[in-house]
Amino acid sequence: MLKGKVAVVTGSTSGIGLAYARAFAKEGANIVINGLGDAAAIEKERAAIESDFGVKCAYSPANMLKADEIEGMVRLAETTFGSCDILVNNAGIQHVAPIEDFPIDTWNMIIAINLSAAFFAMRAAIPGMKARKWGRIINTASAHALVASPFKSAYVSAKHGIAGLTKTAALETATFGITCNAICPGYVWTPLVEKQIPDTAKARGISEEEVKKNVMLAAQPTKEFVTVEEVAALAVFLCSENARSITGSMQQIDGGWVAE
Ligand code: NAD
Repeated sequence: MLKGKVAVVTGSTSGIGLAYARAFAKEGANIVINGLGDAAAIEKERAAIESDFGVKCAYSPANMLKADEIEGMVRLAETTFGSCDILVNNAGIQHVAPIEDFPIDTWNMIIAINLSAAFFAMRAAIPGMKARKWGRIINTASAHALVASPFKSAYVSAKHGIAGLTKTAALETATFGITCNAICPGYVWTPLVEKQIPDTAKARGISEEEVKKNVMLAAQPTKEFVTVEEVAALAVFLCSENARSITGSMQQIDGGWVAE
């Protein structure tokens, strides 16, 4: 379905991003993966995408804190594979602490990686998409783009911000064959979720097991974590021709969380 298209996925060395990259590759797209991590492990994932799906896959080491490197990532797709047709802004980090204890540097970093990076990437990619009259921009937002939780001030602010950026980009690109949507997952079992369990336990004064059961899955009426494959399948659909009229939307995939 995506043969001939090129997808750039930020934060795709792990978790949801890696699942997006593999799902687009399965549909025949060439891929630019991006993210931090051990060089050998990243090379293994990159090579596996090529051999598992018979597509080309390049790695961009762009740091999402740096506007020039983010632009370089989009240019890498254009120079290596000819275009950037699908842009998925997915890299994200989390920190859990009450506002009065929240480190200022951490606030700035979360706003930069979870929100500003998406703006820089869109700014670089939209001109080419407009010229080719086709594009798909997907921002991994969160249920926290729609509702808040305590102790996640920076994350909730960045994710609400990306909801606004998504709608703005959708309006600016609507007549160019480009769609821009946000995917709003609930709790998906990934390293990002696993890593916040000890801090949440500390902030709330409860055990790690109680965090999983009484904080995370308590918010999710299905009482199950969403899987990365389910999130990736939604992204693939948003890239299809049948999804051409879906733009500016917030796609909830949260086991019913924000319905409550
Ligand atoms: P993850 O920790 O598994 O993956 C995060 C990715 O971002 C990694 O590839 C990491 O290397 C990359 N990254 C982090 N900082 C970076 C930087 N400075 N420059 C480049 N890359 C950087 O987490 P995940 O759960 O897969 O999260 C992916 C996205 O999904 C995030 O935006 C997150 O907020 C969102 N999300 C996750 C959940 C969940 O429950 N896991 C729920 C809703 C939304």
